[in-house]
Amino acid sequence: MASPPRSALLAAPVRTPRPSILRRALELPPKAAEGAAALGLNTVGELLEHVPRARREARTVAALAPGETATVLVEVRTIAARPVRRRGMRPLIEATVADATGPMQATFFNQPWLAKRYEPGTRLVLHGKYEGRGRFRVANHATTDEAAAGTEEVSHYAASEGLSSTQILSLVAANRAALREVVEPLPGRLRASHDFAERGAALEAMHFGASPEEVERGRRRLAFEELLLVQLALLARRAREDSGAAALALGDEPSLTARWLGHELPFTLTADQLAAIETLRRELAGERPTQRLLMGEVGSGKTVVALFAMLRAVEHGFQAALMAPTETLAEQHFATIQRLLGEQSVTLALLTGSTPAARRAEILSRLASGECSLVVGTHALIEDPVRFAALAVAVVDEQHRFGVRQRTALHSKAPDGRAPHVLHMTATPIPRTLALCEYGDLDQTRLHERPLGRRATATHIVSGERERQRAYERIAEEVRAGRQAFVVCPLVEAGELEDGAGAAAQAVAATEEFERLRAGELRDFRLVLLHGQLGHREKQAAMAAFAGGDADVLVATTVIEVGIDVPNATVMLIENAERFGISQLHQLRGRVGRGEHDSLCLLCGPKGSPRLAALERHDDGFELAEIDLRLRKEGELVGTKQSGVGQFALAQMPEDEALLLAARSCAEALIAADPQLRQPEHALLADRLAELYGEIAAHPIAA
Ligand code: ADP
Ligand code: MG
Repeated sequence: MASPPRSALLAAPVRTPRPSILRRALELPPKAAEGAAALGLNTVGELLEHVPRARREARTVAALAPGETATVLVEVRTIAARPVRRRGMRPLIEATVADATGPMQATFFNQPWLAKRYEPGTRLVLHGKYEGRGRFRVANHATTDEAAAGTEEVSHYAASEGLSSTQILSLVAANRAALREVVEPLPGRLRASHDFAERGAALEAMHFGASPEEVERGRRRLAFEELLLVQLALLARRAREDSGAAALALGDEPSLTARWLGHELPFTLTADQLAAIETLRRELAGERPTQRLLMGEVGSGKTVVALFAMLRAVEHGFQAALMAPTETLAEQHFATIQRLLGEQSVTLALLTGSTPAARRAEILSRLASGECSLVVGTHALIEDPVRFAALAVAVVDEQHRFGVRQRTALHSKAPDGRAPHVLHMTATPIPRTLALCEYGDLDQTRLHERPLGRRATATHIVSGERERQRAYERIAEEVRAGRQAFVVCPLVEAGELEDGAGAAAQAVAATEEFERLRAGELRDFRLVLLHGQLGHREKQAAMAAFAGGDADVLVATTVIEVGIDVPNATVMLIENAERFGISQLHQLRGRVGRGEHDSLCLLCGPKGSPRLAALERHDDGFELAEIDLRLRKEGELVGTKQSGVGQFALAQMPEDEALLLAARSCAEALIAADPQLRQPEHALLADRLAELYGEIAAHPIAA
């Protein structure tokens, strides 16, 4: 960080803010106070932190177009109540208001008291609809000090029932002076080197900035701070971990792992796998406990990498454990590991809720004695009173389902005073920016490459009747060649349905499509139906028929997303593909392309859809996750949940990626120089950190 000249530091104005002013309660009439409370705005400080969501152009009266909804800044000339004929209705308020470009008639509904409140000469911000011929129907209104002429944009705020955006604007303006009291948490040096305004000035720019550039400068300054604090919290947590118990250093020359890598693997490792293994070899050799997140899609070969780490523990005479979130996954991992180990003799055990009592007792005793060196199981492995002789490496699959409590429990399994090395695995491709925010306390490794022998699935958008017929012909060709096919039925449009009716409607849609195809395009083949409303037996029967080759085509809802592995299936047709999200389509597509044959994914939907086009072009889940994030920002979102997006008040991903990276390296430098933020110039930053993340920072890493 370049430091500013001393003269500049000395010349910087010194002020002593009085934050007590910011803690003062907002003074509001009851209804507005309720509205403010609903927005979490109880004090002056909270009001000033409530930054605008957007800026809208304030129009001049002369420029209003009929039918347009707009905001104007005007002065009241005359104002009066006009009785309404219809019974039960309150009188209208009609006012002649004007700006420099001319007058118009503004109508207020249901608020007869306004005639007294808005005396002639009062300046108002009005938001509403211009109905033409000089008439303006007011939706929101508030007084303002801003000069009517010259202000081109007005801030718009998240509002509530009792408190409109226009009222908030006016309140902020009334409390503008209090911005001087805002505390500056960023050290002066840091601010100077990034050319950032003071916090109060940045807030002021966001509320009242004269140009979009000024507002954006304020936003960036505040977004940087927001990101810096997140990164500081993550890194402080990590620093605390690192300074805690040391791990067992696994530094000996490879023996078992060398033999295993040399002779047992029936395939060549990908470059990504090799790099990950090399990183782990180096890291495990140290006493700093590994805390690494291994990301790779299903089938990218994470288990091989994890097994390497576990065997490093075993060859040093220590133990390793792999924990999966469900029994089924634990069983799958166990089978994969057994297969991957080949002839290497490693005492290996599977421990889940279904393990019979006698077997369980035996495993527990062998783990306690150290006789069993590698165990696979569910979380019960660490929550139960399971004792390890010397746990050195723990692998946690799908780490986001893992809580702080389990993490603490895990620590107690290592030998006294030691912490285990921990490798977390996830199959969810998380965009880089979000991964840095959510898992910034973990080192990260990505497996992009698809293992050899796994081919990309050619993907095409199918639009219109002719292409659809051609798609069915392709399915028929594949089936005639001995392959199998999936037909995935669409999600039923959200909004068409009451809550909870979705699954039933889905089942109906799938059944109809099944009947249609069975009598129509695919009548020559053996079709089976699979949806969520079927009983367990029927589901099992349908899956077994398809897996066993007794059915050619599986017509299904998205239930096939999980757990179907039929390498002979080479084609998938997805109906109304535009109703699915990118990641869901990518997951569905992953059900084909698992065998030796080329495979094909047909997406029925509009050619113009950017999401479908992304799937046509890309096969890498990480790449698709990045695109997904960008498109979500542009509102191209279907009814899927918005993971991670919008978790910040001011920072926006992926646009603020550069800002995030700057905040990250700044946080790294700060923590490296002053791990506890104890230096005087970091005091206010430390206060702010404790205020926001105190609780979290005190805990060990949430694994
Ligand atoms: P993940 O845990 O990431 O889903 P796995 O490690 O379970 O993936 O690997 C999936 C399958 O691919 C396993 O059967 C494994 O044996 C195989 N595999 C792993 N790496 C490779 C590779 N480099 N080349 C070929 N096959 C591989
Ligand atoms: Mg696996």
